[in-house]
Parts: sequence; C-alpha cells; structure tokens
Amino acid sequence: MADLYIAGLWCSAERGETREIRCPADGELISTVDEASSVDTIKAIDAARRAFDHSEWPTSSVHDRSDLLHRVADLLVENKAEVARAETLDTGKRLVESEYDVDDIVGVFRHYASTAAEDAGRVIDTGRLDIRSRVVREPIGVCALITPWNYPLLQTSWKVAPALAAGNTFVLKPSELTPSTAILLMRHLEEAGLPAGVGNLILGAGPTAGGPLSTHPGVDLVSFTGGVETGRRIMAAAAATVKKVALELGGKNPNIVFADADREAALDFALTAVFLHSGQVCSAGARLIVEESIKDAFVDELVERARRIRLGGPFDPEAETGPLVSAAHREKVEAYVARGLAEGATLRCGGARPDDPELDKGFYYRPTILDDCKSGMSVIQDESFGPVLTVEAFSTEDDAVATANDSIYGLAGAVWTENAGKAERVASRLRVGTVWINDYHPYVPQAEWGGYKQSGTGRELGAAGLDEYRETKHIWHNVRPAAQRWFGGGE
Ligand code: NAD
Repeated sequence: MADLYIAGLWCSAERGETREIRCPADGELISTVDEASSVDTIKAIDAARRAFDHSEWPTSSVHDRSDLLHRVADLLVENKAEVARAETLDTGKRLVESEYDVDDIVGVFRHYASTAAEDAGRVIDTGRLDIRSRVVREPIGVCALITPWNYPLLQTSWKVAPALAAGNTFVLKPSELTPSTAILLMRHLEEAGLPAGVGNLILGAGPTAGGPLSTHPGVDLVSFTGGVETGRRIMAAAAATVKKVALELGGKNPNIVFADADREAALDFALTAVFLHSGQVCSAGARLIVEESIKDAFVDELVERARRIRLGGPFDPEAETGPLVSAAHREKVEAYVARGLAEGATLRCGGARPDDPELDKGFYYRPTILDDCKSGMSVIQDESFGPVLTVEAFSTEDDAVATANDSIYGLAGAVWTENAGKAERVASRLRVGTVWINDYHPYVPQAEWGGYKQSGTGRELGAAGLDEYRETKHIWHNVRPAAQRWFGGGE
C-alpha cells in the first residue's frame, strides 16, 4: 500500500495507519488505504512549497500547462470505465451517474486547458510617457484543496484544473469516505507529466490529516467544499495566517412553483431536484415553495410518484437512486425527519428505511415528503443532505421571494412559471448564486458556481473560478528615472 503522493513519490502513512473503504450500497470492503496524520500533511505542504518556490512550474509557459490539462482529460476519457466504477463503489451512486460525472470532469479539464491564458493582465494608461504600467496575474502559491464525498472527483476537478492552469502547486485532501478517484487522478497527473511536488495527495480524517492545511504558514490558499460547520472552522483557523479562503458550503435551495407553471415539467423536475443522488447534492431543490391555489393537487401527485421511486444498488439497471453514503449520515437524516415531525410537519411519504431485504446491508432511506412546513422550522432552515422534500405554500410573488430568501443559505434555486416577466423578477430578487428558470440542476464549466450568504465565499468554475487561483500584481516601470529632490534637495 502506498496511497499518499508526496514530492512525486507514492508513499505510505508515516505512522502506518490505514482505513477501510466500504461501499455504501452493501458494506463490502473496496480497499484499505493509508490514513495520513498531520506529519504526512506537513511533508506534503513542504513539498508543494518547495515546488512553488524553487521549480520552474509557476513561471512555466501557460501553453505547456494547458497541454498537460488536455493530456489529463485524454487519460480520463481512456480510463472512463475504471474511474466511473471507482466513484460508484465509493459513493454508492448509480454507475450511469458516475459516467455522467466523468464526462463533466473531462469538460472541466478541457475548459481550463483552453482558458488558462485568458485575461493574463492589462496595460494601464497613466497619462505619463515615462511610465510603463501594467497589471499582471500570477499564481497564488501553495493551495490546499479539501473536497467532500458526494461528487468526489467532480468537486476535485473544479479545484485542481484551475489551480494548475494558473501555475500553483497543491495538496489535495479528498473526503476520507471516498478517496479512490483522487488516487486515480493523481496517477493520471503523474502520467501526463506533472513535475514532482506540484501536486500532492494526502488521505485521511478532516481534523487530523486536514488540520495543518488551514493553519500551516506554508499554505497560501485554502479552497474548501463541504459543510457549513467545517467551513466556519477552516475560515477561523486560516485567519491566524491570513490565508486566502474559498468556501463552497451547503444549501437549502428553494424550488418555487407558480400556478401558471408547465405542470408536467415542474412536477417531474421537483422530483429530480430533490431526489437525485438521494438528495446528497449541495444544490438539491429540497424546499418546494408552491402557490397555494395548486399546492394540494401538486403535492398529491408528487407523493404518488415519490412512492414509486425504485431504490437499488449502483449496478442495478432498474434502480432510480441509491443509498446514503454512510450509516452515520443516514442516522442524521432520520433525526432531521423526526425533528420535522415533532415541529408539526405532516409526513406524506417515506420517513423510513425500505423493507426490501435485498437492501438491508446498504444505507438506504425512502424518498420522503414533509408537508405543511413553515419558515421557522428547523427542517426548513437546516440542510438534510438526504432524500427529504419540505413543502411550503405561498400566496403572492412577494411572499414567494420572501419565503425563499428566509435562509442563512444562498447557493441555488429555481422558479417555475410561464410568465417570463415574473420569472425574471423573481430570479433577480433571489439571494442565491445560481437560478434556474423552468429547469433544475444543469451547470456548465463556463459559468460561475458558488453561494451567497453562508453558502460560501468566492466562486468556482467560469472566469472567476480561475481568478480564485491568481494574485493580481501592478508593475510600474519608470523608463526615464530622474531625481525628484523631495527630501534634502534644497539649498
Ligand atoms: P464535511 O464538511 O464533513 O467534509 C468536507 C471535507 O472537509 C472532507 O474532506 C473532510 O475530511 C474535511 N474536513 C473536515 N474537517 C476538517 C478540518 N478541521 N480541517 C480540514 N479538513 C476538514 O462535508 P461532507 O459531509 O464531506 O460534504 C457534505 C457537505 O458538502 C454538504 O453540506 C454539502 O452541501 C457540501 N457541498 C457543497 C458544494 C458546493 O458546491 N457548494 C458541493 C458539494 C458539497
């Protein structure tokens, strides 16, 4: 076993510790991997620091970096089946979803390969002929990249591709639950010719293996995707050395349906919005906010269809969605639903584990709908990160917007209506980083992704996703220097 990648070498954890990785669908052992301690992490940070300070990588040609990203994309295409299978075994998600993820990941690498040279700087007209003034973009330095378990390699690609495009070095720490595709990615980066020390991989638990990533003075930027509590801890820890911090946190995303929406499409997407990947999606449309006049009939039909959702293992072609990621996570979702019921929500379907004995060994939970919810309830304010839809009613456009914005989160949301003016008005008033009008979930690497309010700071993807990994420097060049005699020049 040698699953850590530090300074261009595959190595084992210094203290010899390991962790078993098990498939959430049936508990089967997938692999046993090295478990890093802070000692390994500090080694990885030192390697990234040396590569940044003493190698040619940060000043390498942007075309060379772009070629490397294209080679990684090619390798991901060649090895798509292996990568998708590894992602599916770690997460329990359906194979077809992991295959879509790999296509998206390839798109992200190709996007940053082709935009790496964009917006490299500008010339400033100072109004003085003796001055050449320009603004240039430079890499930030050593980047700590910390990723979650729900879209392990996709979230990683949103960080690794722009970090490398901009000329940074990095230490990557994937979720301890889902390390397999990060290992495969590092192999592909190595094969594509990434110089030693530029990319480093550590595996292990957040506070131990991950701890030094936000405290060590050798790290310049922490880019973190995960839960809001962890995000707060990382931000506070990073403050001591004033690191740059980029946070992609949770969401409790409103899906607003007006009475004049295309009913068939709105219904269909209301299900996909919340139940895709069993709700383990940061932008899941977990808050249905539906116009009073259609609410009862709309929810009745939703319940009818949610009851028919087929749960199953990742390789079951009939399955529509899979298990939750761990026993502990399922218990959290169960406690969340129990809280909602205690607060007065009405359970319309789900709210239990499936009784199918074939699913006994996995961490499955039935798609659940909680009706009659109100803004103040914890099920409205907290993220469940599971297959749980809450339903609220609204009566006016203002009421819909106010209800949707009544949240500490602001990641994403949707509005369904056939009235284009109303759609635009609501979209512009929603305090979220992504709004879908008559759609749910699509994203493209060309467009920024990120959260308002406590859903995060900064943006991934798009031009801003590259800027996150660049410093801005102003260079002032006096081509005809002459003494000024400001001080001590008098008679
Ligand atoms: P998490 O916060 O528990 O863990 C995320 C990562 O942080 C893991 O790698 C973990 O090991 C690490 N970590 C934990 N404590 C740490 C510490 N003290 N120092 C350094 N690293 C530490 O989140 P999770 O359960 O893996 O993921 C689910 C959360 O991620 C949800 O809240 C979801 O909304 C969010 N998420 C957000 C986005 C987005 O784009 N905004 C995307 C995916 C997931």
